[in-house]
Amino acid sequence: MLKVVKFGGSSLSDATQVKKVFNIVTSDPSRKFVVVSAPGKRNSSDTKVTDMLIKLAEKALAYEDVTHQLNLILQRFQDITAGLGMSDDIIRVILQDLVSRLNSDKSIKERFLDNLKAAGEDNCAKLVAQYINSQGFKATYVSPKDVGLLLTSEFGNAQILPVSYQNLKVLNSYEGIVIFPGFFGYSVNQEVVTLPRGGSDVTGAILAASLDCDLYENFTDVDYIYTVNPNIVSNPLPIDHLTFKEMRELSYAGFSVFHEEALTPVYYKFTHVNIKNTNNPAAPGTMIHQQVNENRKHSITGISGDKGFSTINIRKYLMNREIGFGRKVLQMLEEESIPYEHSPSGIDDISIIIRSKYLNEQIEDKLICRIKNELKAEEVSIIHNQALVMIVGEKCLDDSNTLHKCSEALCESGIVIKMLNQGSSKLSIMVGIADADFEKAIRCLYNKFFME
Ligand code: ASP
Repeated sequence: MLKVVKFGGSSLSDATQVKKVFNIVTSDPSRKFVVVSAPGKRNSSDTKVTDMLIKLAEKALAYEDVTHQLNLILQRFQDITAGLGMSDDIIRVILQDLVSRLNSDKSIKERFLDNLKAAGEDNCAKLVAQYINSQGFKATYVSPKDVGLLLTSEFGNAQILPVSYQNLKVLNSYEGIVIFPGFFGYSVNQEVVTLPRGGSDVTGAILAASLDCDLYENFTDVDYIYTVNPNIVSNPLPIDHLTFKEMRELSYAGFSVFHEEALTPVYYKFTHVNIKNTNNPAAPGTMIHQQVNENRKHSITGISGDKGFSTINIRKYLMNREIGFGRKVLQMLEEESIPYEHSPSGIDDISIIIRSKYLNEQIEDKLICRIKNELKAEEVSIIHNQALVMIVGEKCLDDSNTLHKCSEALCESGIVIKMLNQGSSKLSIMVGIADADFEKAIRCLYNKFFME
């Protein structure tokens, strides 16, 4: 058994957390590859080291005095090393590293910013490796540069280059525990590039896929993924097992445990993923895998949802006979750089659901005008303040009762269903409702499916 273990920012926020990481890693010899984030928040009013680094970079780019901000960051690391009883050597290494990044070429703003953003993970990995060594275990810090973790040159939004999967296999030849910084890699021009925010999850998955690991353990600060958002329903039931497809459907709308792209590298490799809690490692956590667990207690796996959608409703007599009508509408959205989410349709009607953040009064007027003038639509309207709720479960559509229960629950609570989409995804039912009904809908659906 070989595992990749990833620790998020809250698992590395202070010395106590780093000790927990040490205990988790050294308690299991199969935990050979460890990916770390930058130190995160110690409490709700604290600032993540990555955000502190962004501020540092912005000050440097504006040619302002950076001394205070630099000291704040060093202090964060020093608090950790002091709490771990480590010498100040590593702080000098971190200072030197930050100064050299600050002195790097500023001509491309995004490149400079990425170079500084990556310093959180990079220095945290050095610190953790040194601490594990000081406790008598062999651990090696490995830079993504040394092993060819190559990414596209999109600063702040990079994606993996396929050659990396082969390159990273060299990690197998390292002795002891490998400590690898998450969140960044290198472009083919050897520039530091970062993944989107939260990208250490992606790094962990990339390593797990490259090294054909049996398990990718993702340590965070919750015991499980829950059947519903715990901020809406208190103490909801945990999910023991779920499939990659279910996780994708749930995280599309509101389940933010994991970085959205993190499962892509392991999805094709059949690697198992285990979400676990650094503060309670004995809890089994949630397993994510390809196959459906046959011992499920409930007909669905979870309920998620999100607010902030708008619907463009279009009506034209004999629309169904007009070849290319839908394409032309979508083309207009494409020209405005608006991604669309769903498009339920009738014989003479089509509705396009998009996230409201892509609209403003000017864009709306333009779209309505174009659809009316160029496509000769009779009626075009845009409705705002809509929410989507997803009822997710691999086998939920095999059970004829699922849709019945869903509409019954909403009806009993006086919630009007504005749109319903069942069947295009074999494992979810999507319901459109008013934003104002969102929390109430989640609660009543949870009670119906999990409590009755
Ligand atoms: N430190 C980075 C962030 O705050 C990446 C990560 O934690 O995964 O987004």
